[in-house]
Amino acid sequence: MPRIAYVNGRYLPHAHAQVHIEDRGYQFADGVYEVIHVRDGRLIDAEPHFERFDYSLGELHIAPPMPRAALRLVLGELLQRNAVLNGLIYFQSTRGVAPRDHKFPAKARTSLVATAKRLRPLPAGALDNGVAVVTIPDIRWQRCDIKSVALVANVLGKQQAREAGAYEAWQVDREGYVTEGTSTNAWIVTEDGAVVTRAADHSILNGVTRLAVFDIIHREGYRLVERPFSVAEAKAAREAFLTSTTADLLPVVRLDGAPVADGKPGPLSRKLREAYFAHATAAA
Ligand code: PLP
Repeated sequence: MPRIAYVNGRYLPHAHAQVHIEDRGYQFADGVYEVIHVRDGRLIDAEPHFERFDYSLGELHIAPPMPRAALRLVLGELLQRNAVLNGLIYFQSTRGVAPRDHKFPAKARTSLVATAKRLRPLPAGALDNGVAVVTIPDIRWQRCDIKSVALVANVLGKQQAREAGAYEAWQVDREGYVTEGTSTNAWIVTEDGAVVTRAADHSILNGVTRLAVFDIIHREGYRLVERPFSVAEAKAAREAFLTSTTADLLPVVRLDGAPVADGKPGPLSRKLREAYFAHATAAA
């Protein structure tokens, strides 16, 4: 069955899905995107993803490509045409196609492309043992709250992690505080049991998974503190973990080559991971 992509109003074979070379996403990274997890054919936490999409577009003064209800129809159709029951849906909008010039074009139509892909469900227990993380300087711009397609700093960071044999790189600001991973949010559990993650200011992406985990923490009566934490604090933490649409919630068991606590996933991380899985199953 051929893969199908959506490109500006048309469903095309993936291999022939193309945009114009003067699309501003291609030339200026002048666009935004979302990734939504699909489980049993349904989108997990679709509304917060659509809300963040609108927020990102709004911050860049890009007109929405279509009303939300129409976007839902396009994505649903794409899932059907690709027979994706479990996987990911990616969609991206840019300021459109216009002769190359930095300032906003007088006339351009917001572009919309979308792809869907199947994900093989991970075998039970996969990644239950946790993952390794390294720390790197955060060299990104000052509007990381916008889910911009300008991801080259994240690309370099993730590659550094891979080359260090780690799953993720936690980016560190000039004051020595962790901002977030290159494609995940960063969390620790302190000695006194507080779950700590950075507040959603302009220095991080306000993860949809992060917000779902907030709900779980409140519901289960754990203590949440939104504040920056330093690399030293993370290294001395009782537990650490990361969250994202594609990773769900993964315990972090090594930081810069040293074990976090006893080097095994912590009990709270495990509980939150299970609760998030239950949330995602129910939300789908
Ligand atoms: N931070 C960054 C930089 C990301 O790219 C992502 C996801 O792609 C996240 C955090 C996690 O966000 P979400 O939970 O919405 O996937």
